[in-house]
Amino acid sequence: MRFLLTLCFAAGVAWGFEGLPSLHAPITLVVDSEKPIAAEALRELQNELNHLLKPGGRSVEWKQLSEMKAGAEVSDLIVVRFRGSCRMETMPALLDERGPLALTHTADGDVLPFSEVLCDRVKAAARSAMHGGQVPDGNKLMGRAMARVLAHEVWHITANTQKHGKDGVAQRGLTGAQLISDKFEFNEADAAAFTRK
Ligand SMILES: [Zn+2]
Repeated sequence: MRFLLTLCFAAGVAWGFEGLPSLHAPITLVVDSEKPIAAEALRELQNELNHLLKPGGRSVEWKQLSEMKAGAEVSDLIVVRFRGSCRMETMPALLDERGPLALTHTADGDVLPFSEVLCDRVKAAARSAMHGGQVPDGNKLMGRAMARVLAHEVWHITANTQKHGKDGVAQRGLTGAQLISDKFEFNEADAAAFTRK
């Protein structure tokens, strides 16, 4: 892994991952987190992620890294690491929200199915877009924001593209408001890329 280059969600990346998924096979997310994800955030993350991938004909199977056994057979595996604190604070965020919200790794020009979601940055972006009345739903909105950031990375990997969509979840650089709004999805053309050969 010493040749890994870390590329940035916000800046766009070079993709060349081969072995793309067969049509409609579930995507297996093997998940690890530095700190426990708030239960309400996790519930919303899983629901929203499946909601976002459904128009593209995909679903997600969620496995903890610690549950994985050597030799386990899974389809279309993507390893996701959640870094930082994936738990909304009730106090206003004072974090610097600039910089990437997630990272995906490449080696020798090939995209590897390894993504990292930077929860502290996602949290700062989401928190900056919340109004006071939304604070009690903070962890739900945190989970929704994490889902949209992760869906963006999963789209790059499964669609095998370094490009971005014109709008929707596949666009470059999602805003805090887009991360937490009631409805923000892939546009039809981008969703189709999940299953296009
Ligand atoms: Zn991107």
